[in-house]
Amino acid sequence: MTFSDLELYPPILRAIKECGYSEPTPIQQQAIPAAMAGKDLIASAQTGTGKTAAFMLPVLQRLYTKVKNPKGAPRVLVLTPTRELAGQVTEATRTYGKYVNFRSTFILGGMPYRNQFRDLSRPVDLVVGTPGRLLDHVQRGSLNLSRVEILILDEADRMLDMGFQEDMEKIISKTSTDRQTLLFTATMDNAMAKIAGKMLTEPERIDIAGKKNTLETIEQRLHVADSKIHKQKILEHLAQDTSLTQAIVFSATKREADSLAKELSERGHKAAAMHGDMTQGARNRTLRRLRDGRVRLLVATDVAARGLDIPGISHVVNYDLPQSAEDYVHRIGRTGRAGASGIAISFASRADVPKLQRIEKYIGNKVPVLVIPGLEPMTTLAVPPRKASHRRSPGGKKHAAAGKGGRPAWKKGTKPSGDQQKRKPRSERKAPEVCYR
Ligand code: AMP
Repeated sequence: MTFSDLELYPPILRAIKECGYSEPTPIQQQAIPAAMAGKDLIASAQTGTGKTAAFMLPVLQRLYTKVKNPKGAPRVLVLTPTRELAGQVTEATRTYGKYVNFRSTFILGGMPYRNQFRDLSRPVDLVVGTPGRLLDHVQRGSLNLSRVEILILDEADRMLDMGFQEDMEKIISKTSTDRQTLLFTATMDNAMAKIAGKMLTEPERIDIAGKKNTLETIEQRLHVADSKIHKQKILEHLAQDTSLTQAIVFSATKREADSLAKELSERGHKAAAMHGDMTQGARNRTLRRLRDGRVRLLVATDVAARGLDIPGISHVVNYDLPQSAEDYVHRIGRTGRAGASGIAISFASRADVPKLQRIEKYIGNKVPVLVIPGLEPMTTLAVPPRKASHRRSPGGKKHAAAGKGGRPAWKKGTKPSGDQQKRKPRSERKAPEVCYR
C-alpha cells in the first residue's frame, strides 16, 4: 500500500513525501481509512509505530475543508499526558500540515497564561494540550469545546496512570456528542476498556500486535550490578562505546538524574539531566541540545522522557529499573524508532528480581544477561531459599545446617568466603551463574 492509495489530498501527500516516508506503517494503513470514514477508533499502538501520523493525517484531511468557528473554539482537540508529547504532536502537525492552511496552538501547564489567552482569543482550528491546563481554560471560558469535531486521546493509558481521568472526563463532557473520538493507548486493560466504553461510539478496534512486534528491532540486554559504584563503572564502560550515538539513561529519582548527569559531565561526557523539577524552558533547551547533538547522554526520569522522539537515540539505559513493565516498554521504545535498530540495556541487582520478573512476563521473553570482562558482578540474581532456620530434614528435625559455627549447609558452596573474594582483582574473579532464570 502507498500513501496515494489512502486518497489523501495532494498537499498532505506532498508533505509526507518530503518526510521521506515510502509507505504507511501498519497502524497508518488501518487507522487512516477508518478515521477518514468518520469512525471512532480505539487503537493499541506503542509510540514508534507511526501513530501520530495515523491520527494527524485524517485530521489534516478534515481541516483542509474550511469551516468558520468562533474564536477559541477549535475543530480538533488532542489530549496528551505530557508536555513533551504535546510538543512533539504539535511539531508533527506542522510538518505534515506544512501545505494545509490552518491554525494550531498548544496549551500546556507550566507555560505563561498570557500567550495562551492571546492564542485562544483568535480563531484556532486545532488545539493540542495536557489535561490540567486545558480544563483550566475551559473553566475560565477562554476555550470553547462545543465545536470539536475530532477528539484525540493520545497515550490514554498514560493519562490514566498519571491521574488525569477526572480532568479528561470533565473536558470530554464539554465537547459535543456528535464528535468523532480516536483513542490511542499502548496497553488495554479493564480500566481502559471501561473508559473507552464511556467515551467512544461503536469504535473500530485496531491492535497493532503490540509490544512484541514493536520490540523486535530493539536488542535488549541485562547487566547484573552489585552496587551503585558497580553501576557507575558499567555506565562509564558503555559511555566509552563509540557505537553509542546518543542514549537516554533512566534514573529513578530527579536527584539521581541530576547527580548522574553531573558525574558524567565531570568525566568529560556530553551529558545533561531532564526531569519534572526543571522549568519548561530548561527542558526545551535540553531537548534542543539533544536533537542537535550537543548532548549525547540524557539522564532522565520517566515523566520527562515520556514520548520523546529523537531519531539519533541508539541506546536506552535503565540505570534503575522502572516500577512497571509498561514503563519498561515505553522507555526502551525511545530507541529503535520507526524500524531503526536500537539497544536497550538494563541494570539489575538481586533486589530488582521481582521487577525484572514482571517485565519478562509482560514482554514474553527473558532479557539476556551480558557480562563485561573486568566488570563481572559478585552477586547473582538468584533468590536464596527463605528462612533457612525453618528448613527441616526429611525426618522432621531442623537442619543442623550450620554445624559448629560454620555456614548453613544450603549456603555452602554458593558463595566464596569474603577473604577469597577480596584478595582477587575483579578481572580474575569468576562471574557467578545467573540461576533465577
Ligand atoms: P510515532 O509513533 O508517531 O511517535 O512515530 C515514530 C517515528 O516514525 C517518527 O520519527 C516519525 O517521523 C516516523 N514515521 C511515521 N510514519 C512513518 C512512515 N510511514 N515511514 C517512516 N517513518 C515514519
